[in-house]
Amino acid sequence: MGRELIDLAIERLREDFPNKSKSWIRRALVRFMRGTVREFNENVWVVRGLPELGDRYPTYVVRFKDGRYYCSCFESSWGLRRKSEICTHIAAVILYRNYKRLDSDVYASVINIECTDYYLEIPGELRGKVKVVKSVRVVDSSDRLNPRHRVRYVIYANEPMEVRAKLVCDGDVRELSLRLARTRRYIIELLTH
Ligand SMILES: [Zn+2]
Repeated sequence: MGRELIDLAIERLREDFPNKSKSWIRRALVRFMRGTVREFNENVWVVRGLPELGDRYPTYVVRFKDGRYYCSCFESSWGLRRKSEICTHIAAVILYRNYKRLDSDVYASVINIECTDYYLEIPGELRGKVKVVKSVRVVDSSDRLNPRHRVRYVIYANEPMEVRAKLVCDGDVRELSLRLARTRRYIIELLTH
């Protein structure tokens, strides 16, 4: 498993649950790294119990239904207390899903330019299929009204394709034909966050 991928998967988990403790994150990570999460089907996972984390059962079943996660540990004797919380079985499943998503393939092209005025136009019919993420950094603000920017466009989609785009940089208009090449989603996240 890639360290960068795991770090990003944990970062996403922290963003989703900013009030959870370090020990909650740590327990989720232990479950994930020990390979205890198995996908049963699209919305059901089986998590092997770890006695050292206080589990009393050999396995737990986590389900995702109507936008919420449910764990079979809710039905145990501690269920009433646990129901209001998100247990670390669920957290391990979320980590597993984050990791899987980050490890999945996407198709991308990157444009780096330096301009004062810039614009990228993607054909309207590709809206929804192709995503464009822009990151901008000022490189020269000596002309305060017209600072110069370093701009990176990351164009990506779930399938390989050729995208015709129009790039405007300081009045220079270019017609581009971008071939979206296979990469992994975590690379996109590293480029765009
Ligand atoms: Zn649980």
